[in-house]
Amino acid sequence: MDYYSSQISKLIEELSRLPGIGAKTAQRLAFHIINMPKEQVEHMASAMVDARNNVRYCRQCYTLTDRELCPICGNKSRDAGTIMVVETTRDLAAYEKTGKYEGVYHVLHGAISPMLGIGPGDIKLKELMERLQGDVDEVIIATNSSLEGETTAMYISKLIKPTGIKVSRIASGVPVGGDLEYIDEVTLLRALEGRTEL
Ligand code: ZN
Repeated sequence: MDYYSSQISKLIEELSRLPGIGAKTAQRLAFHIINMPKEQVEHMASAMVDARNNVRYCRQCYTLTDRELCPICGNKSRDAGTIMVVETTRDLAAYEKTGKYEGVYHVLHGAISPMLGIGPGDIKLKELMERLQGDVDEVIIATNSSLEGETTAMYISKLIKPTGIKVSRIASGVPVGGDLEYIDEVTLLRALEGRTEL
């Protein structure tokens, strides 16, 4: 890419590090950015830096947030006795968009996958078990319906069963292998309402 001046090449190179951005798209974005009003570019850059610097795990549910306690855990009107276990913060966002779930969440940040060498100790499972020492009525397992998601659901239900806390799994309205974040709200709600006790 020596035919561009080095600063343009550098921008293209940095943009192409992003997932799903190939060399051509990176080039297109780079030229778009160069033509944007300076102020807009500054806002964009500082949004990236601020998010990276300030976003951390909620100390209770482990979702990504810029506060010690995320807005959901900090909301007194949510039912803290119902915990929905999801794989990612994006899955949490998918359920939040339905606007119908009143409980709280627990974000695992992954799923158990023997194939990829991801074990129970690599996701926020110990943290979930610690939360169950408190006052919890039900744990709804809403991991994806992929092999990893199902493996994780089975593992969690076996761990929780002896505690006597109700464990349920969202219904299979969610297509097999389907990522929760791509599923429409109606299907998500149906899956939640049709959950079965494990
Ligand atoms: Zn939280």
